[in-house]
Amino acid sequence: MPSEEEIQQLRRDLLDWFDKHRRDLPWRRTRDPYAIWVSEIMLQQTRVAAVVPFYERFLERFPTFQALSEASESDLLACWAGLGYYHRARNLQKAAIQMRERGAFPATYDEILAMPGIGEYTAAAVSSIAFDLPHTAVDGNVLRVASRIFDDAADIGSAAGRKHLGRLADKLFDRSRPGAFNQAMMELGATVCLPRKPQCLVCAVAQVCASRKSGTQEQRPVKMTGVKNVQEERVVFWIAEAGRVLAWHRPVESKLMPGFWELPERTELPAASVGRRLGAFRHGITFHSYRFEVHEAAAPRDVGLCEWVAMDALATMPVSTVFRKARRVAEASRKERATARSSTASV
Ligand code: SF4
Repeated sequence: MPSEEEIQQLRRDLLDWFDKHRRDLPWRRTRDPYAIWVSEIMLQQTRVAAVVPFYERFLERFPTFQALSEASESDLLACWAGLGYYHRARNLQKAAIQMRERGAFPATYDEILAMPGIGEYTAAAVSSIAFDLPHTAVDGNVLRVASRIFDDAADIGSAAGRKHLGRLADKLFDRSRPGAFNQAMMELGATVCLPRKPQCLVCAVAQVCASRKSGTQEQRPVKMTGVKNVQEERVVFWIAEAGRVLAWHRPVESKLMPGFWELPERTELPAASVGRRLGAFRHGITFHSYRFEVHEAAAPRDVGLCEWVAMDALATMPVSTVFRKARRVAEASRKERATARSSTASV
């Protein structure tokens, strides 16, 4: 367990390292609370590299909370399409409407926490980064780093273990530079103190880290409970003709991806006669791993809730990731067949 002097040393070393080596990310070039909030919401379940282009496009399209509050449902979802977890986009807009009504971005931790879609971690991150308020932001990266620095064997898979590790992270927290310290801890967890192979040889806080000293860094954090990954096989239909494709629109009250367009499966088109297999792709959502087969099919006379959608319009419509992946598979298959036909014809 590091002493008080060692913790102070750690704060200095970590902030010094962060000031010199932090990644140049677009949301780190601004103090605009709205932009910082958007980035934190996008980063909730998505990797940094994947977020960057979405963040830039979103801010270009909706540069202020006023602009976001006035966006149409279709515009909002189309701008978010590909990032997944669409409730985040809806909550962003609900919060933007509240901000417009009160005339300003909330400026205290409690007010930020009260906004839709904001938990303790995001409220601490936004309030510390945008307003320098002293709140420790504790996410999975930070819990892992804390468990290693203190060489603590609390179970990160249990609520009690996470609470305990959160208290340890709070002991490390530097209240003189809250935003920078929170980002430094997250940066260390994301780039150096990695889950499987912590890079102790280049770590700025290695001198203080208790698990490095005892050689237990790869056994920390301890995780006793595991969630089973569920595997599922699905078939989607690619039914296209005359520049249109058959699709269905999720109702706005749907729990899953409301307002998004999907390709039909057997549930939507029970009478479709299934044709050639075009390919397959994988898609993961939390603990579900799906394998989708894409098949051509003949449209039945009654297409039920499906509609013919112009292929040209898809780019500006909120279409699901499964839809986009299936479309890529169908187009790759079409190109392959065209190449095979032209080589046969030239023989
Ligand atoms: Fe993580 Fe190793 Fe640094 Fe400790 S010394 S914080 S285990 S990278």
